[in-house]
Amino acid sequence: MNTVHMKINGMPVEIEAGSNILAAAKKVNINIPTLCYHPDLPAWAACGMCVVKQENSPKLLRACAAPVQENLSIITHDAELYQIRKTVIEMILSTHPNECLTCARNGTCELQRFAAEFGVRHQPYEVRIMDLPKDTSTTSIVLDPSKCIKCGRCVQVCQDQQGVFALEFIGRGDLTMMSPAACLPLNDSPCIKCGQCSAHCPVGAIYEKDEIGDFVRAVGNPKNHVVTQIAPAVRVALGEAFNLPAGTITTGKIYAALRRLGVAKVFDTNFAADLTIMEEGSELVKRLTTGVGAIPQITSCCPAWTDYMEKYYTDMIPHFSTAKSPMMMQGAITKTYYAEKAGIDPATIYSVAIMPCTAKKYEIGRDEHMHASGFNDVDLVLTTREFARLIKASGIDFLSLQDEEADSPIGAYAGAGTIFGNTGGVMEAAIRTAYNLMTGEDLKDVNVEAVRGLEGVRSGVVDVKGTKLKVAIAHGMANVSSLLEEIREAKAAGKEPPYHFIEVMACRGGCVSGGGQPYASTDDVRAQRIAGLYTDDERSTVRCSHQNPEIQQLYADYLGAPLSEKAHHLLHTTYTERPIYKK
Ligand code: SF4
Ligand code: SF4
Ligand code: SF4
Repeated sequence: MNTVHMKINGMPVEIEAGSNILAAAKKVNINIPTLCYHPDLPAWAACGMCVVKQENSPKLLRACAAPVQENLSIITHDAELYQIRKTVIEMILSTHPNECLTCARNGTCELQRFAAEFGVRHQPYEVRIMDLPKDTSTTSIVLDPSKCIKCGRCVQVCQDQQGVFALEFIGRGDLTMMSPAACLPLNDSPCIKCGQCSAHCPVGAIYEKDEIGDFVRAVGNPKNHVVTQIAPAVRVALGEAFNLPAGTITTGKIYAALRRLGVAKVFDTNFAADLTIMEEGSELVKRLTTGVGAIPQITSCCPAWTDYMEKYYTDMIPHFSTAKSPMMMQGAITKTYYAEKAGIDPATIYSVAIMPCTAKKYEIGRDEHMHASGFNDVDLVLTTREFARLIKASGIDFLSLQDEEADSPIGAYAGAGTIFGNTGGVMEAAIRTAYNLMTGEDLKDVNVEAVRGLEGVRSGVVDVKGTKLKVAIAHGMANVSSLLEEIREAKAAGKEPPYHFIEVMACRGGCVSGGGQPYASTDDVRAQRIAGLYTDDERSTVRCSHQNPEIQQLYADYLGAPLSEKAHHLLHTTYTERPIYKK
């Protein structure tokens, strides 16, 4: 590693060449304020908050974009820099609606925090606020362009990290504004509802559709039997909203909180993640052994990814697993198997899913297969952020809750189910069960290290008793194209497919940093949440989906076998070509 030696406020720092000054300051525990900069994204140097001085030079540098250099000496904080930064905030506030109390980001807004920290008490500049309508066209996220501070994060994340190009800047100068592509309603744009723009926006200009009121009303209706499920990634991130470190496993407290909120049953999406593996793993083995069905098989549990593929890579539709996502399987099983076993009229069941994901709000209504039970399989999706607000607004002291267990018969999960929440986890869970399905034996070591990690595209070969299973993983939507192009090229050349099984997750790191998770997802936070999921996996007495006793019971009592007619009806779906632009 090439390093350079420099000084920050007189303190010596040794740091990797190519780093920026922000990183050098961090090494000596100095935080330089930033607004437009986000560690996931290339520096854009738009806002001016991170200006620093080079000692003995009149130059002001932008710490996000300026690279470290040998012998550089930087001053990060003094009276002049304080005033520059305060002026930047005051200038932004002159074009920003003064609506903090009714804003979706009240309490979590980065601009609000800086205004407080820099003691902004009045508005010295002429106020010029654009009165622009909100875009509520999707069922997932809301755009409020009046609040946009033009930092560029959403456009960068949508275009560069997600490869979607649903957002852009239009207009010039003072009239510049963030807008869906071609000025369409967001729902008619190429948007895949991943919510990464909302997770990266520093202010309240993009946020999840808030449906907490629907939950409260549903629980308050005595005719409803409210049943809940929580996704894998929620349990290792929710704690951050209560000042616990990222990656803290709070599953037992979440179950307890849901009961305090008044729900009738607390189930777990991890159960259905195991069910997904049974169906998806069986489908893979069937494709490999019978030659019927396209290889590679590609995972389909991420609704933003399926939406993307249906718009951008329609030739890949036959490659998709027909297995529904764990959330939708859980919903269908809740209103059929559980209802039947409990003797409850499914029409009275109100099914709520707590998800890390804004796209899940879209998924519950994506087509008729989402009503396989004869009802809405899932009635409501709350993101992790909404759930945290709900717990706080309900007066529940989350940290003091004693751990509780999930309810039977669709609440137990194997370690394989919990690692669905991170990139590579679905693949690892599938390998654990596919190995059993192909050989009749269990893997001696279920830790499939070859598929773990945070690189955007990974591939490997798994030895299944002499059969070489070629697998690949992509996360962050823009990373998938290289894999799909490889498949296309092999097809065009009449060659063997380069892979047998591919896992794709739209969000960087997988669902652990989904668009509905607590703010401030960075690779460090992602790594901590992922470590939490693997700890949950390692602590599980059952590590493989096919060993989950409640899954075995479900097949014995109700579904028959994986890929049975009943399983197909309830647990599988189809895909269809969709226009990139609706109009
Ligand atoms: S939800 Fe995703 S695809 Fe849609 S605008 Fe935001 S980042 Fe782009
Ligand atoms: S909408 Fe948010 S993320 Fe996008 S440019 Fe405006 S302030 Fe930045
Ligand atoms: S990766 Fe997970 S959180 Fe992100 S869009 Fe897909 S399902 Fe949702």
